[in-house]
Amino acid sequence: MDLPGPAAIGPASVLGSDPVQAIVKVLREGERFLVCSHSRPDGDAVGSVLAMGMLLEQMGKRADLVTADRVPIVHRAMPRADSIRTAHRVHGPYDAAILLECDGLERTRLQGLEKFFLINIDHHASGRMFAHINWIDREATSVGELVHRLILAAGATVTPDIATCIYTTLLTDTGGFIYGGTRASTFGLARDLVLAGADPIAIAQNVYFSTAMSKLLLLGAALNNLRREGRLAWLWITHQDMVRTCAVEEDCEGIVNYALSIADVEAAVLLRELPEQRIAVSLRSKGKLNVAAIAGRFNGGGHGNAAGCTLAGPLGQAMDQILVEMRSALADLASDRA
Ligand code: 5GP
Repeated sequence: MDLPGPAAIGPASVLGSDPVQAIVKVLREGERFLVCSHSRPDGDAVGSVLAMGMLLEQMGKRADLVTADRVPIVHRAMPRADSIRTAHRVHGPYDAAILLECDGLERTRLQGLEKFFLINIDHHASGRMFAHINWIDREATSVGELVHRLILAAGATVTPDIATCIYTTLLTDTGGFIYGGTRASTFGLARDLVLAGADPIAIAQNVYFSTAMSKLLLLGAALNNLRREGRLAWLWITHQDMVRTCAVEEDCEGIVNYALSIADVEAAVLLRELPEQRIAVSLRSKGKLNVAAIAGRFNGGGHGNAAGCTLAGPLGQAMDQILVEMRSALADLASDRA
């Protein structure tokens, strides 16, 4: 397929103003595609990559599915989860690279993407127009929801395997249908997916009732480090906590929500020591506090109620930095309300 190179066209794309139709056209005309998502893939990343892979397969195309980190254990029950390969550099030839749930190339932590024709499908508040075709819908509860729309636009079939993957993206990115952004249409799509063959009980059991022992031990360690100051709560995980509990990175997923679950707390922070004195920060809020804006000040991003960034260590210094911003944002919110 003869497509313009990255330097030749602008973000709005020469392929038409409707990004869905433009993407379908590229998929129809191409032969071979790379599908990837962000590092430390979550339920939406894994489910949307798998569903996109199955769409391409139905269209008779070749697709390589790649992420920089392995699929977390809780998501390995998704159909064909083992078709996602782990790599740090990607090589062509591809007619296009499809990036799902990434607000920039760097979120993939994959090298070698720059040379491809890029399709960006995202729903983050921090989503950016970095690709040749950009489809950013901040109202979508998951990128899986957008892949579902693409499947319908391409005239493909939502098979039970596709329905299972997309239902998982909905379930996980809404935190079990409880985060802001969950609305009637979310349940409408969930219903359609169940009718198409997704088993909501089996999926929920895979996601919520298959916790590794190491995760619970890590949670215990993190709760020992739980602090609260008015409407703000925070906790942290040291490298020692990880070693002592034999935890792996994916065991950290969701721990910040325990701080957010405290009555009258409106914002929560989890800090975690990474190698090389870097600190991973997860930010969460209930209601109006926009944590994506706070993460953005530290080169991070995400959604209004769930965002993240990486700070320089040591842990105490990173904690001071982020707590200053969170306290100030909460104070601004309080004065707006007064
Ligand atoms: P988590 O706290 O679970 O790692 O991430 C929460 C949300 O923030 C997710 O949507 C994730 O994609 C986004 N996020 C986390 N860390 C970063 C980061 O360093 N940069 C950007 N742009 N987004 C992030």
